[in-house]
Amino acid sequence: MALLEGKKFLITGVLTADSLAFGVAQFAQREGAEIVLSGFGRAMRLTERTARRLDEPVEILELDVTDPEHIERARDQLATKWGTMDGALHAIGFAPEKCLGEDFFAPDWEDVSVAMHVSAYSLRSVADIVTPLMPTGGSIVGLTFDAEMAWPLYNWMGVAKGALESLNRYLARELGPKNIRVNLVAAGPMRTVAAKSIPGGAFNVLDDAWAQRAPLGWDVTDSEGVARSCVALLSDWLPQTTGSVIHVDGGFHAIGV
Ligand code: NAD
Repeated sequence: MALLEGKKFLITGVLTADSLAFGVAQFAQREGAEIVLSGFGRAMRLTERTARRLDEPVEILELDVTDPEHIERARDQLATKWGTMDGALHAIGFAPEKCLGEDFFAPDWEDVSVAMHVSAYSLRSVADIVTPLMPTGGSIVGLTFDAEMAWPLYNWMGVAKGALESLNRYLARELGPKNIRVNLVAAGPMRTVAAKSIPGGAFNVLDDAWAQRAPLGWDVTDSEGVARSCVALLSDWLPQTTGSVIHVDGGFHAIGV
């Protein structure tokens, strides 16, 4: 039997075919899942165009995670479509330009609060959407960039990832009794729209570091390993894992120099 046979998921964060969520959507369908995507604002068109490249046609909901009305509406739409479901992928990140780059002290709270809202608090919003539709349990999976360390130029996005990782643990604590698992995949660097927004060649620094240190090697253009790991976490095959951050980084995190 396919890994996700008969399961139903909300997959957020598909923007282009490079999006980490696109790979997850593709493998989820190939493993038998029914999925709904979400997109938002002017990028909705891009999500629609990218979705046509999936094996099976999908419905796309409008979901700006900072808009409480969108959250309510998304829950209602999924309830009408499916009644109950099995989980969600959170693949959402954004920080205003000032939050990333040479000057760590450039952004004020207004800028930082946007990064925190969209990139960290939104995991709670995704949980708010799907939790009431998972009466017998399920799996919520998000994506982080290892926040145990400080990285060049990643700055407040890194701080937001730290909050996301903490929220992952608190949600696991709250939702465990409902048999809902919550986990993050800490992916190595991948060339996506979000990654390209990190200024000053930071991406090349990370790319080089991974090339030198990851024992399994790392290809910044191939997110299949990340996609397969997310699908595994969405499946029933890690039933006792929650509140975890699973490194999918070619082993980079385990190597000192
Ligand atoms: P991406 O640009 O393809 O995806 C980011 C997504 O966030 C987009 O689909 C965008 O529409 C969505 N988004 C932004 N603001 C939103 C809002 N207000 N409401 C709803 N959606 C919103 O880039 P990606 O690299 O695939 O990013 C997906 C996740 O993976 C992010 O959490 C990112 O931090 C994480 N991640 C990326 C890398 C990397 O190197 N690319 C590494 C580790 C973790």
